Amino acid sequence: MARRRVPTAPTAPTAAPTDCPCGLPARYADCCGRLHRGEAAAAGAEQLMRSRFSAFAVRDEPYLLRSWHPDTRPASIDFDPALRWERLEVLGTGEGGPFHTEGTVEFRAHYRAGGRAESLHEHSRFVRHQGEWVYLDGDVRG
Ligand SMILES: [Zn+2]
Repeated sequence: MARRRVPTAPTAPTAAPTDCPCGLPARYADCCGRLHRGEAAAAGAEQLMRSRFSAFAVRDEPYLLRSWHPDTRPASIDFDPALRWERLEVLGTGEGGPFHTEGTVEFRAHYRAGGRAESLHEHSRFVRHQGEWVYLDGDVRG
């Protein structure tokens, strides 16, 4: 009896986990989730920016408030239920590294509002406050 060749399933390429909303190739739990849970602190302005974008995506209000400078922090955050943050593009950074006390991040944040794809282009300023990076303010660039 001839053995039928059983077609083997093509080996699935091991895709890099990319489910963190911030866009880095990592799982949310191992990436921005560690910052949101308070297990790690942002090493620089860009990492803080990414973690804040993820916090908007997962609607983590406590994290957004504690990573916001007390001078500019709102009392609460109104998440628009019709708005979904989908993807972050970091366009440029200035300072914001381990030896800096200030930094800037220019980014484009893509979101979907009522089915329409939109984006927000912003230049944000970050400072160190009591040793931790926090968001100070930002200019929206059209
Ligand atoms: Zn992340």
